[in-house]
Amino acid sequence: MLATTGARHYLFGAALFLLAALAPVRAYAVDDAGAVRIGVLAFLGAEAAINEWSPVVRRLQAAMPGRKVSLVQLDHRGLHDASAAGEIDFVITNPGHYVELEAVLGASRILTLDPGPARTPERAIGSAVIVKAGSGDLRTLTDLRGRRVAVVAREGFGGFQLVWRELAALGIDPERDFAGLKVVGLPMNRVFDAVARGEADAGIVRSCLLESREEWRSAFRVLGARSEPDFPCASSTRLYPDWPLATLRHTPAALAKEVAIALLAMSEAEDGMAWAVPADYQAVHEMFRELQIGPYAYLREPTLMTLAERYWRWVVALAVLLAAWILYTVRVEHQVHTRTAELRTALAVREALEARIRANQEQADHLSRLSVLGELSGTLAHELNQPLAAIGNYAQSLVRRVDNGRLTNDAVREAAGEIAGQAERAAGILARIGGFAKKRAAVRERVAPVTIVREAIALFRGMLANAPEVRLTDETRPGTTVEIDPLQVQQVLLNLLKNACDATRGLAPERQRLLVHITRGGDGNVHMAVRDFGTGLDATSRDRLFEPFFTTKPDGLGLGLSICRTIAEAHRGRLTAEAPVDGTGCEFVLSLPSCAPATTPDARPDDAADR
Ligand code: ADP
Repeated sequence: MLATTGARHYLFGAALFLLAALAPVRAYAVDDAGAVRIGVLAFLGAEAAINEWSPVVRRLQAAMPGRKVSLVQLDHRGLHDASAAGEIDFVITNPGHYVELEAVLGASRILTLDPGPARTPERAIGSAVIVKAGSGDLRTLTDLRGRRVAVVAREGFGGFQLVWRELAALGIDPERDFAGLKVVGLPMNRVFDAVARGEADAGIVRSCLLESREEWRSAFRVLGARSEPDFPCASSTRLYPDWPLATLRHTPAALAKEVAIALLAMSEAEDGMAWAVPADYQAVHEMFRELQIGPYAYLREPTLMTLAERYWRWVVALAVLLAAWILYTVRVEHQVHTRTAELRTALAVREALEARIRANQEQADHLSRLSVLGELSGTLAHELNQPLAAIGNYAQSLVRRVDNGRLTNDAVREAAGEIAGQAERAAGILARIGGFAKKRAAVRERVAPVTIVREAIALFRGMLANAPEVRLTDETRPGTTVEIDPLQVQQVLLNLLKNACDATRGLAPERQRLLVHITRGGDGNVHMAVRDFGTGLDATSRDRLFEPFFTTKPDGLGLGLSICRTIAEAHRGRLTAEAPVDGTGCEFVLSLPSCAPATTPDARPDDAADR
C-alpha cells in the first residue's frame, strides 16, 4: 500500500517536471506555426506607423499565407519591454535604438531599409534643426546658445542625439548652454507645433520630415544645413544608416530567413519601399561613444581621473591638510629629539659637576685633615722626641757599658726592651696620624656616639704633648648608634677640640679644661657638645664663623668649621655654635640623626676619657 502511494507521488512529480521543461518549447512551436509579430517604433504616432509599414505586412502575409503577420506600434520603452518579454519576433526601429537593443538584448539586424534611388542605406538619416522661416537672428548651430529648443525626447535618435553630437563638437552642452530643453514627446509633429506657437526658439526633427509637408516647408527653415551631395533633404548633422529590421534572441532562424527573403524581394516600384542587406552601423556606435550614452554610458562612470577633476578642490585641501599634519608631526618629533638631546647633555653636565664637587669635597676634607695635622705638627714633633730621646739614651748607656767593660746580659736585655717599647710608642703615634691623613672615599658605619668621641679625644691627646683635661659625659642609652663615616665625624670633633684648645691657650689652668657632653635631643638626634671656657666669640666671629677662609688666627686657614658643617649636613645633621648659659667660652654642638628608638635620657658620667 505504502509502496503504491510512493510510486504515485514519484510519477506525479516526474510529469510536472516534464511539463515545466516542455512548456517554452511548446509556446515557440505554436508561435512558429502561427503568428509573426513585428514591433515598430511609432515616431509619428500609431496611425502613421501602420500606414508607413503596411507594405511590409502585406508582402510578408503574401509570402507566408499560413501565418498571421501583425504589426505592433510602440515607443522606445515599449519596444524594449516587448522584445525582452518575447512578445514580438522582429523589431523595426531607428538605428540608435537598434544599437541599444543589440547591446542589451542581443538584437541582430538582418536587413536595412533601402532609401531608394540617389541615396544609399549607409547615408540615409540625419537630423534637422528647424526654426521659424522669419527668425533671422538664428544662422548657425552656435546661435542656439541661450535658446529654448523643443525635442521629442532626450533619448530620441534623429529627434535629439544626432544634433547633440554636432553641438558637443562645437563645445555646446544642451543641458548647460540652452535656456531650456522642451520635451514634447511623440509624434514628431509636436516639435513643429511648439516652435510655431513660440514655446521654443528652435526644434529638432528627423531630416526629410520638413520636406514632407508643404505647410512646414513654407513656415520653417533648417538651421546650419550641411552640404550632403547624395542626400535630397536639408540636414544639420552628419548622415547615418537607415532603419534596420532585426531579429531577437528567441526568433527562430528559419522564420528569420523566410522574412528576409520575402522582404528583399520588395521593390520601390511595386511596394513603395525596398530593403537591402544589413548596413554598417559603426557610425552610430561612434556617436554613442562620443556622447558617452547608450551602450557607452559606462564611460561616464567616475574614474579616478574624473573624480580627481571633479573634486580637485577637496583633493587639494586634503593634500594641504595632510602636508600640514606631516610637517607638524615632523616638527614635533624634531623638537622632542632636540629637547631630549639637550636634557641628556644637561644631565651629563650635572653629573660631571657633581663628580667634580665630590672630588673637590674629598680633596678639601683631605686638605683640612692635613691642615689640622700641620697645626699640630709642632707638638707632634715634641711627642715623637720623647721616645726617640729615650731610645738614644738607652743606646748610649749600652755603648758606655761596653767601653767600661760592664756590659751584662741583663743590662743588654733591659736596654733592648726599653728601646723596643719606645719604638712601639712612636709607631703607634705615627699609625694614628697616618690613618687620619689618608685620602679615601666616604663610607657609612653604625657606631655608638661615645665610641667615636672617645677615639677623637684619644687622637687629640695623642697629638699634643700637654693636652688639656677633657671630661666626657654620655647621657644616651646603651645601644644608641649613629650611621656615620667615622673618620669624617672624628675630623669634626678633632677640629672642635683643637679650636677649643686654641681659644684657651695661655689662660689660667682651670679655664683650659674642656667638656664633651653627649645627649639625645628633643628632636631625636644625638647631640655631641664641645664646651670650652676660653675667650668666646665676638659679634663678627659669630656671624662669619662658618664662612670659608674666615679666621682670626695668624697661621689659620679658616676652612675647618666650614668643612665641619658640610660634613654634618652630608650626614643629615647640623653644626651650631652656642653661647653657654653661664656666658664664659663657647659651645659647639654636632647634631646627628640617631638609629636607635627614642629612650629616656639616662645621665651616666663617663670617666674613661678623663685624664
Ligand atoms: P681656623 O681654626 O683655621 O681659624 P676655623 O674655621 O676652624 O679656622 O675657625 C674659624 C674661626 O672661628 C677661628 O679663627 C676663630 O676665630 C673662631 N673660633 C672657632 N672656634 C672657636 C672657639 N672655640 N672659641 C673662640 N673662637 C673660635
